[in-house]
Amino acid sequence: MSPENKDSRSRAQLLAEIEDLQARLTEAEDALRAIREGDVDAIVVSGSRGEQVFSLTGAEQVYRLIVETMREAALTISFDGRILFCNRQFSHLVRNPQEQIVGRRLEELVAPEDRREVASLLARSQVVTVTRRLVFQGAEAPAVPTHVSAAVLRTSEGESICLVATDLSEMESSAKIIQQLRRQQEALRESEHRWATTLASIGDAVIASDAAGRITFMNAVAQELTGWTLAEAAGKPVRAVFRIINEHTRAEMADPVSRVLETGRIVGLANHTLLIRKDGVELAIDDSGAPIQTEDGIPFGVVLVFRDIRERRQAEEALRRAKEAAESANRAKSEFLAHMSHEIRTPLSAIIGLSEVLAPRIREEQSRQFVSMIHESARSMLALLGEILDFARIEAGKVELHPVPFDLRRTLERLVEPHALLARQKGLATGMEVSEELPDHLEGDVELLSRVLQNLLSNAVKYTDRGGVRLQVRRQEEGPEGRPLWIRFEVADTGIGIPNASRPRLFQSFERLHGTLTRIHHEGTGLGLAIARQLVVRMGGEIGVESEEGVGSTFWFTLPFEPVREGAGAGETAGEAAGRPAVAHQPLAALPPLRILLAEDNRVNRLFLQTALEDAGHRVAAVEDGRQALEALRAPAGGSKAGAFDLVLMDIQMPRLDGLEATRAIRALPGEAARLPVIALTAFAAQGDARRFRQAGLDGYVSKPVDFGRLAEEIRRVRPGS
Ligand code: ADP
Repeated sequence: MSPENKDSRSRAQLLAEIEDLQARLTEAEDALRAIREGDVDAIVVSGSRGEQVFSLTGAEQVYRLIVETMREAALTISFDGRILFCNRQFSHLVRNPQEQIVGRRLEELVAPEDRREVASLLARSQVVTVTRRLVFQGAEAPAVPTHVSAAVLRTSEGESICLVATDLSEMESSAKIIQQLRRQQEALRESEHRWATTLASIGDAVIASDAAGRITFMNAVAQELTGWTLAEAAGKPVRAVFRIINEHTRAEMADPVSRVLETGRIVGLANHTLLIRKDGVELAIDDSGAPIQTEDGIPFGVVLVFRDIRERRQAEEALRRAKEAAESANRAKSEFLAHMSHEIRTPLSAIIGLSEVLAPRIREEQSRQFVSMIHESARSMLALLGEILDFARIEAGKVELHPVPFDLRRTLERLVEPHALLARQKGLATGMEVSEELPDHLEGDVELLSRVLQNLLSNAVKYTDRGGVRLQVRRQEEGPEGRPLWIRFEVADTGIGIPNASRPRLFQSFERLHGTLTRIHHEGTGLGLAIARQLVVRMGGEIGVESEEGVGSTFWFTLPFEPVREGAGAGETAGEAAGRPAVAHQPLAALPPLRILLAEDNRVNRLFLQTALEDAGHRVAAVEDGRQALEALRAPAGGSKAGAFDLVLMDIQMPRLDGLEATRAIRALPGEAARLPVIALTAFAAQGDARRFRQAGLDGYVSKPVDFGRLAEEIRRVRPGS
């Protein structure tokens, strides 16, 4: 081929080829547009020899295949919101078969609160591609949150909206879990902070360890008390830092941490623990250790709490010393009172006794009255002394109960008698009423009962100038059922009464309400009611008062008693004898003449007793102590002179051989003498003496100053024939 030829052909050819290429480009562009716009059902690509290189038929089927296999839920809807198509995922999402979904309106499958969202989605997706959060919900399907993208879809069949929904529930729940975890973490951090602050600001020392007993935490107090900082101590075994010994034995004490870990229980330290500080200083502490456990009870550490008790110890010690001092002062006071009472009683006894003996011997009337007045004054002094002694005993808690069987009516009659006498002298009416439903015999501390009643009766007479005084005794109606029997005693008077305002102070010691406030002046210590209240409380009862000023007062008290079988308590008892008041009508003279051995060391007492007994017609041999009494009873030939005496009156406190020893010796004498009745004379009528006297072999006792009526009764009791 010539070059010219070649050039002309190639130009024409090139032009044709360009034209051809341009046409194919346009064609390809059209095909692409058609594919993009969904106008193509099948694409076939042929080779130069007409063979098929690539074929894409049924594009919609391929497209559906993809749509069905993808993870997202997909659906197409018409612009008015009807569902044209949905994939299996969507059908699964709303738990409804595909054929039942197609044709329904989209908002029917959306949670009610998201329905308006559907309308906006439809409106906007016609213009642009939009994304929304939508919650789908079928009739039987739970609400599922999704993320939906919507875009217009153009196919040969027309335009529709394509929705692709991604299930968010898994994501949201993981997000929730993460959020929850984050919150828990925060709470934990906060609680940790709170605990750390608490432990740091707590007044006690706190050390925590792990399960191996190595220190993990110490608060500031623990660091101060042990002398170790947390930085130094962390990781060390607790016993290296918390070294404790027994204060007394100085032996190293068992490590509480290992004890807690072994037992899994809270362990308290023994008393007398000393903590040895890092610098060797010893501190008295008390402490406890407790396991730190998991919820299942598996221990993973121990917490030790301890405190410095030096200050407490010092305070306790000071308190103990103060208490001891107070107690010893109180004891000294009680002893002094008892002693003083004894010392005063002895000369007082002499005054009372001698004046009693002297009065009938005086012929001149006025002198006799003076001596009687000496006698009366000495008696009231004795009563005051008794009150002070009682009060001291009560204060020292030394009042013991001695319940004995007693005859209620006889005891009350004898108690009331002297007060009734005084009342009648003042021109007052008197009365006593003992309810018939009460038994004759009861068991109780008749001596304490008598003291309370005597106090109330004497007050009633003392504070009443017009009208009368009355004693009423009956069963307590509202009292507890069954045994014991509750009895209410009421002493009512028509006296001056008690002002309302003073009533709260009434039963307190040394309170005398009418002493200084009014012109009325009465004798008294202001102890009587305080003693009465204490005695009633001691016997398990209650005491109170109802009163109107100028009208009168009713003092009452209730007490429990044990009933005694009728017949069993008949006859006279020691209890009755104790509560018996003075009857002073020459009672000694009423006895048949007796031969009496009197042992009494006090010369004045000996003299007046001997005189009184002899004046009453008895024969008396008076000796100065127990030894002389024994000599008087021993026969010269080693036998006994029992026949010489009917009775022994024995003072208790005597030099050389006291009354108790002497009585024991008498009981050891041969023959008759051992059975001679012995009555104790005692200036010290303490509670519980009666039992001591009986044990020594005494038959009875009379307290000094001797009341002749009482002595006569006691003689009659120990010698029934007298
Ligand atoms: P006192 O030894 O002074 O009588 P009490 O303790 O027996 O001491 O009585 C305290 C005070 O209570 C009396 O001083 C008196 O003011 C008042 N009081 C006691 N009994 C009566 C009563 N029956 N009527 C009026 N006042 C009474």
